[in-house]
Amino acid sequence: MHHVELITTAILLIWVAIVITLERVIPYRKGLPFFREGFWTDLVLYTFVQSFALKIIIFDYLIQPLDQHFGFSKLHFVTGWPVWVQVLFFVITHDFYIYWFHRFQHSSPLFWRTHEAHHSGKQVDWLAGSRSHAVEILINQTIEFAPIILLGADPVVVPIKACIDAVWGIWIHSNVDVRSGRLQYFINGPEMHLWHHADHQEVFHANFSTKFAFWDWLFGTAYLPDFKPVKWGLHYAFPQDYFLQHVFSMKRFEERRLLRYSLFRRFALLRPALRRRRQALADARESAAAPVASRRLA
Ligand SMILES: [Zn+2]
Ligand SMILES: [Zn+2]
Repeated sequence: MHHVELITTAILLIWVAIVITLERVIPYRKGLPFFREGFWTDLVLYTFVQSFALKIIIFDYLIQPLDQHFGFSKLHFVTGWPVWVQVLFFVITHDFYIYWFHRFQHSSPLFWRTHEAHHSGKQVDWLAGSRSHAVEILINQTIEFAPIILLGADPVVVPIKACIDAVWGIWIHSNVDVRSGRLQYFINGPEMHLWHHADHQEVFHANFSTKFAFWDWLFGTAYLPDFKPVKWGLHYAFPQDYFLQHVFSMKRFEERRLLRYSLFRRFALLRPALRRRRQALADARESAAAPVASRRLA
């Protein structure tokens, strides 16, 4: 691993530790469990498996062939700029793009299908931001990283930008009760983004910013009341399973009804949540039978 990647990975891990600690010390919503609903789906399937697979598709099968064909990176548009200027340039321009694409996803019924998964969690925390439909990531990260490579940026800009994305993504979703005052006009944080994840009609079309909050204030979509939301996630049922979440974006179905089919039942039982529920039922049955057995022994 390149030393820049080692440093960015270390920064990310330290940041995760800090945010997890803050979530325990000053929680936005009290009593949110660490291993909340969908924790393993978000960590294993979205954060590791999906990210790894899409990284290969985006860099090796989309951006690289594009560059080989057109040779844009050889024109070295931004190569002469200092690295920090390159990073700042790509952070701001991509954040501007993501504000409008995010806003578009909330207003287009078709593109909402690629974004609803991100809103499906009812217990929003540091890891919740990782839950993004594969198509959403494919579009956004290709548009994010293609210019970096095609405009001939320094190779370190890619891991630095990816680290900034991850750090900021963790922060805005974190269950931390922060009051940043006037800073919330400029830098986005959990104060406004947690509201974006609330199931309240007034925020269905508000708080689209990711890194810089000023897009929302500038374009009239900011919402920051002095109270907290009471309902979270989507107002309709959404599958728990990673694969079904993607199927659901193409074809609506009721997850509960699928349990009628033995093949699906077997697949569903693999899921930890259902396994735990089965275990809890078995424990309850056992404890109900226990007094009878002990009475018999006596
Ligand atoms: Zn959204
Ligand atoms: Zn979010």
